[in-house]
Amino acid sequence: MPEIDFQALRTGQRRALAKAITLIESSHPTHRKQAAALLERCLPHSGKSLRIGISGVPGVGKSTFIEAFGLFLIGLGKRVGVLAVDPSSPLHGGSILGDKTRMERLSREDHAFIRPSPAGRSLGGVANRTREAVLVAESAGFDVILVETVGVGQSEYEVHSMTDLFLVLMQPGAGDELQGIKKGILELADLIVVNKADGDAERLASQSVVHYKNAMGFLNHQGFWTPEVLSVSSIEPRGIDTLWERMVAYCEAGSEAIPARRTAQASQWFERLLNDGVTELLKTNAAWAELYQAQKQRVATGEIAPPQAALACIEPLENALKS
Ligand code: GDP
Repeated sequence: MPEIDFQALRTGQRRALAKAITLIESSHPTHRKQAAALLERCLPHSGKSLRIGISGVPGVGKSTFIEAFGLFLIGLGKRVGVLAVDPSSPLHGGSILGDKTRMERLSREDHAFIRPSPAGRSLGGVANRTREAVLVAESAGFDVILVETVGVGQSEYEVHSMTDLFLVLMQPGAGDELQGIKKGILELADLIVVNKADGDAERLASQSVVHYKNAMGFLNHQGFWTPEVLSVSSIEPRGIDTLWERMVAYCEAGSEAIPARRTAQASQWFERLLNDGVTELLKTNAAWAELYQAQKQRVATGEIAPPQAALACIEPLENALKS
């Protein structure tokens, strides 16, 4: 693994950032230690971006939208990082999100950095590496970070838990049921954006805006912001400036709530890592792993109730900590 040139990273050199993220994505124990040290250096310089989650079913126009939105932001003098959480990315080979070939014009911009989803891990693992990549990209001076994910499953919750603002892209016309969008995902949305509001679909898009405004009215939202519904065309492009205005309004309204949300997110992330780490540590300890497997088996055969089995596993740990 090559040394990371921290100064190059801090001055926003994309090659240095790419190398840093490669280090972060490695699961080699030495690299994990180096990555932790790197994160420690990055932390004081992180946190200054707006983190935006973007979700939507395949084909809704995520990459077209991100390209148009990214170019718009660069036009405002911003530096844009695009990261992805793709639970379906195959073990080997590329992932379907955050791919440079999907956003050719944006990827040619000096002020854009695009990174596909880390591959070959559980969803939780992929999401954790993306969380780390957000911090590193921020310390490299990227001031808007877009985290893309597919609107089909659990990954929205992960992306929601690492971003300040969550945007769901929708197709014009088709109802949410038809788009395979779960009500739960609409509940996460701060902004619903009906894409492809152009040509023949423009009228349908306006109808969809009304539909989603009504649908959102039935959801129980809390906090500083009432979710809004807008339409855009990513190919023309049109409506992106209005969308950005609403995002700015969101940030102003959330000037106190957003930092509090980040604090809660960081603490949740810590708790999860701790749980995962301790469980992993135990499972790699031969004596304990044997006990764990035995109890797991006994639960599976109905020989023992889960609480009893869990206690049997925890007892030796308690004793070890006491001694
Ligand atoms: P993704 O799978 O969500 O990333 O979707 P893509 O960005 O690859 O877009 C899927 C298809 O929708 C492509 O053929 C795009 O050209 C088209 N598309 C995306 N945005 C728009 C738009 O604003 N208007 C129209 N008419 N087509 C769009």
